[in-house]
Formats: sequence, structure tokens, C-alpha cells
Amino acid sequence: MGRLGKLGTAHGDVTTPTLMPVIDPSDVVFSPDEIRREFGADLVITNAYLILRHFGQEAARRGVHGILNYDGPIMTDSGGYQILRYGEIGVCPEEIISYQDAIAPDIATILDLPTGARVSREHAVETVRVTLERARQAAEIRSNPKVAWCGPVQGGTFLDLVAECATEVGKLDYQLHAIGSPVELLENYRYAEIVDLVMMAKQHLPLDRPTHLFGAGHPMVLALAVAMGCDLFDSAAYVLYARGGRYMTQNKTLHLDALTFLPCECPICTEHSLEEIKNAPPEERVKLLAKHNLHVTFGELRRIRQAIIEGRLWEYVEMRCRAHPRLLDGLRRLVKYREFIERFDPVSKPSAFCYLGPESASRPEVTRYEKRLTERYEPPALPILALMPAFERERPKVDSPEQTQLIRLIPPFGAVPEELEEVYPLGQFQVPQELDVWQIKSVVDSISNYLQKYGERYEQILLFNDPQRWGSALVDACKSVAEKLKVLPFSGMRKGETR
Ligand SMILES: [Zn+2]
Repeated sequence: MGRLGKLGTAHGDVTTPTLMPVIDPSDVVFSPDEIRREFGADLVITNAYLILRHFGQEAARRGVHGILNYDGPIMTDSGGYQILRYGEIGVCPEEIISYQDAIAPDIATILDLPTGARVSREHAVETVRVTLERARQAAEIRSNPKVAWCGPVQGGTFLDLVAECATEVGKLDYQLHAIGSPVELLENYRYAEIVDLVMMAKQHLPLDRPTHLFGAGHPMVLALAVAMGCDLFDSAAYVLYARGGRYMTQNKTLHLDALTFLPCECPICTEHSLEEIKNAPPEERVKLLAKHNLHVTFGELRRIRQAIIEGRLWEYVEMRCRAHPRLLDGLRRLVKYREFIERFDPVSKPSAFCYLGPESASRPEVTRYEKRLTERYEPPALPILALMPAFERERPKVDSPEQTQLIRLIPPFGAVPEELEEVYPLGQFQVPQELDVWQIKSVVDSISNYLQKYGERYEQILLFNDPQRWGSALVDACKSVAEKLKVLPFSGMRKGETR
């Protein structure tokens, strides 16, 4: 579901997925121009409520581009998050809509009512009701055609409410959507619940509209979020963390005091020593750390974009989610949505399928293959079936080849009839040949199903057994469903063998 996109705005195109650095209008650490020059980030986000508080009607005259002195694309958030954190903010929803129409950001956000993660169901119902009411009202009153509007989804951890909110806001005239309330989940490493939240929203939102995941700006979570179809992220963390002496890496956040080395290739970390950064004057240290944090984040975004181009985003997510057991929980929860994800996965990719762990056995490609083998495949009318558990493409020696149907047994795909071997990814895969239990299970399940369905058709079923690799699992499974099975010695090659 991860995708590269071009988001057109009144101030230029934005490549997605991307991260919007948060600009605090009253305390600018880096100007948007500086961010664009140094990090290649076009789109920045600022807060309409804070602009209103600090600049009032002056911003309505100069526009948000005048206030931030920036001619690139700007998004404004409305202040909903400030409500979640600090309670009521004293601005009514209509006021914040017409104010954003006046200051004219490229993308604006309605004033939603964030659900949060620690609330009663009753309260969550109320936040969804109010958010939808305001979304409908905003769609009526907004007036500036140059501003694209973002309609948020609330509901928090109550997934039925998330589904309802996404369905209803998706029917309204919005150009983008935002998924709210993940911040507390993110702060507590509740990645499995984030996956549920995002996947529930994505299953009910119009998928052609870019999706913003509020607050998910840490590099460790970006790949997972992009794989679920999130296009926009925001980060205030780069500077907030810097103020707390915290140093982001792709896998975690470290405190400067915990570092002995600088585990990073960015210009800040190559041009400065750890001691220089630690001993810099406070303001200078915040800037150095904030720059490093942004470099790490944008570097991660570039790697994610490249992985999408190469057709290997899922593999990248598998690698990244091994940084922390809670992230692995997130990946394992994502696997539960594989049937939905499969609908969006390209049928062919420019790179080989690489098996990198148990979760690879549940990849969309495998799900699709299992489904299509069951629904679409009709075996040829031949009396002999030969089962060959081999990675190399070779035929076993059989007495009457023209009477024999050959099925190779390839984990994690399972039964692969010879005539399908050129279909992606059955002919383009890299899998470990030292098998794990999930690989064995994938083949055992697949061939058991096949033999149950078609075993009666054959006069003879031959299994070229390779006990060194498979133990007794294959023979046991095949025998239990096909009594006529004849076990023959394996005749194929192993890695490193020659003939
Ligand atoms: Zn660095």
C-alpha cells in the first residue's frame, strides 16, 4: 500500500511520502527556506491557532507565506492537538476555518476533537460525533479555492468508531485525510494498536486521497507507516528532542550522555566530534542536534522511497521492524491484514522476492499465490505426479516424462506446478535453504491441500524425498492424505554441489 506520489499545491508539487517539519511561528529554530535548502523538504507545517494567537489579523493580511517568509508549500494544523494536550483553546471551529481561508496555506485542517488513547467509549463516541459535525460544517463554509482541506479521522483505539468516522468523512469533499490520535500510542511503543488504527482508517477512506498520520515523525516508525499507505508525516520531535539532548537514530532515540560514538553519517556527525556537540553552547547544541535529527529522518525517507521504486518496501519494513520487539508486534499485526493489502500489491516487481523471516511467509505475494492456486489452477490431465522439493530448476529422472506432471515444493509458496515457474515471484525469489519451521509449514500445508483436492486423479504420486533438508515432515504430511505415495531418493542438487 506504500506509494510514491506527487501532491500538487498552489506553491508547487510535493513528492510523497514526506515529512513536514513543524515550524513554531513564535520560535523559529530553522526557517522553512533553510529546511528546504538543507534537507530538500518542500512542505512544512505550522499551526493556525498559534499564528492566530501571535499574529492575529496581521497574518490575514500578509498570509501565512508572508508570516513565515516562504514561497513553498505550507500546511496548517488547526490546534486540535493543543486541545488534546492542554484542554480548551478558546477558538471556535468556524473561526479557525475562516482564519485559515484568510491566511491561505496550501493545505489546511479543520478543528477536530482528538480522541486520544486513554478515554472511555462514551467520550470517544462524542469526539467522533463532534469531529464529523465540524467536518460537515467546514465543507459548507470554507471559501478559498486555493486551499486544499484535510479531514481528520478520530476514534482512537475504538476501531468501529474509526471505521465509522473514516467512512463518513470520506464521503465529504476533502482533498486529504489525517489519521488522528496515534501520538500517545507512539509514545508508549503500542505499534500493534497503531497498525489497527491506521489499517482500519485506510480500509474505509478513499485511497486516492493522500493520508497524513499525525505525529508519526520518528524514523523508526516511518517505513511501517508508509507500508500502510500513509503519505504525510509531521515532526516537531526533531527540535523538541534536541532541546532534551536526545539524538534520533533509525532504530531508537539515545540521550547524548549515552553516546560514546556518533552512529551516523550525516554532515553534523561527520564534521563534529561528540565532544564538540556536547560542549557547544546550549542554543548551538540544540541546532546541531535538531539538524542531525532531520538528516536521519530525511535519510530514512529517501531509503523508503528507493525501496518503493525497487519493489522491496515490504522487505525494508521487515528489516526495520526488527529494531524493537514492539515494532515486530506492529509488523505481525500488519500481517493479519494481508488479504486487504494483497489487493494493492503489484502482481510483478522489478526485484526478486526475498524471504527474510517468518513474516515473509505471510507476504501479499504469498497470499495472492495461495489464493490463485486454489481458485484458478486446473492441473493437466496426466496420470503421474512428481513432487520435487528443490530450489534449483531441474527435473527428476522419471520413467515417462511426458506422462508426468512436475510440482516443485518451494517455501514459502508451497506447491509450484512447473508450468507456473515463470510467473512472478515463482521464478524470481531468494529464500534461505536452511529451512525454518515456517518455511516447512508453508510447503506441508500447501501440498496437503493440493493432494486432498487432486490426489485421487493420479495413478501414481512420487515424492523425491530430501530428508536432510526436510526431516520427516514432508513424507508424513503427504502420506497422511495420499496413500498411493511412493517415496524415492532425492535426485536434485544442493547448494555447492556439482555434477
Ligand atoms: Zn548525524
